[in-house]
Amino acid sequence: MNDVEVVVVGAGQAGLSSAHHLRRSGFRPGRDFVVLDRSPRPGGAWQFRWPTLTYGRVHGMHSLPGMELTDADPARPSSEVIGEYFAAYERAFDLRVLRPVRVRAVREAGDGRLRVESDTGTWTTRALINATGTWDRPFVPRVPGRETFAGRQTHTVRYPGPDAFAGERVVVVGGGTSAVQHLLEISRVAAATTWVTRREPVFTEGPFDEDRGRAAVALVEERVRDGLPPRSVVSVTGLPMTEEMRRAREAGVLRRLPMFARITPEGVEWDDGNAVAADSIVWATGFRPVIDHLAPLRLREPGGGIRMTGTEAARDPRVHLVGYGPSASTIGANRAGRTAVRAVRDLLGRSRPGRPEAGRRPERVATRKTAAR
Ligand SMILES: Cc1cc2nc3c(=O)[nH]c(=O)nc-3n(C[C@H](O)[C@H](O)[C@H](O)COP(=O)(O)OP(=O)(O)OC[C@H]3O[C@@H](n4cnc5c(N)ncnc54)[C@H](O)[C@@H]3O)c2cc1C
Repeated sequence: MNDVEVVVVGAGQAGLSSAHHLRRSGFRPGRDFVVLDRSPRPGGAWQFRWPTLTYGRVHGMHSLPGMELTDADPARPSSEVIGEYFAAYERAFDLRVLRPVRVRAVREAGDGRLRVESDTGTWTTRALINATGTWDRPFVPRVPGRETFAGRQTHTVRYPGPDAFAGERVVVVGGGTSAVQHLLEISRVAAATTWVTRREPVFTEGPFDEDRGRAAVALVEERVRDGLPPRSVVSVTGLPMTEEMRRAREAGVLRRLPMFARITPEGVEWDDGNAVAADSIVWATGFRPVIDHLAPLRLREPGGGIRMTGTEAARDPRVHLVGYGPSASTIGANRAGRTAVRAVRDLLGRSRPGRPEAGRRPERVATRKTAAR
């Protein structure tokens, strides 16, 4: 059994930002705090994203605090660029992430501490920063007949890239950025594509500036304050219109149909009798927060969500959720890490930051592109 002051679960953007602020506040990695991550490599969920999601197609990726990601080659997969960047970040700040370590349950230890049980060991801690993201909980809506479909069903989480759909009739379901990106690239190689969304998609023009970002975050925050399950930040920001999307719209690729009523072995059907034959259905229908391991703490409200004040769980001030709800974006995760550490410092009576340990503190990380110059 290991005893620490803070356990951070997850080493994506939110977990690393938290670890960074803990370290800056004088908490020693490996002794005062540990970061546990179930992924095999640095990169958080980015390491699993499909190869055609290049760095240039990612919109609004914010660097982690204290070290800029500069001059990345926009043509390289974001999984590689961000995986390398996170690895360099962990090394530079000596964050000593333990992986692969999967946390299975967090429960009361009985002495005011929490007990964090994982597949490789158990920790007791005075505070927990949960930064487990959503990637491990893909969501597919219940639709009658789904199990009868004779073709292939793929969720974004296992999206293999467009080539796997060459010559097929493909139905893409979902109204977010991932759905549109899948649709655009599949439409170039498929025999036919059909786009289906629950709600009418909202395309937004112009830059996604701070005001729009703030308004979107406020919408998600309101739900979390009311103890309701959060909607993703991306779902309230609309779809920023790009040149590529404009061309696809003119070509008819972005013509959207409402959600179908059922799935048959041959395809999908609507109540009005319309039907589309399909070889593949791609579910770009989002994710849900990975919080099952927190179930023993009974943090959920009757509405199904965890009510929060800032990053703090209303039912347990020892628990902070970062990258959850309103902070489920790279910039939100950065800020949430800072907020959570401030609160944890207060909780543990360490409000005056200690002196960070000496360590290499580069301001920028050179990506392969700059290194090759
Ligand atoms: C396809 C896609 C594209 C996106 N594009 C953008 C964008 O362009 N700009 C933007 O700002 N945001 C974007 N986002 C959102 C953004 O990626 C995340 O909100 C942000 O990176 C925050 O990451 P995180 O640290 O919360 O989670 P993650 O990156 O998912 O990291 C969570 C980590 O926790 C680990 N973990 C999970 N469960 C456990 C457990 N039980 N025990 C131990 N470890 C565990 C996981 O293995 C993972 O390493 C995108 C999201 C998706 C799905």
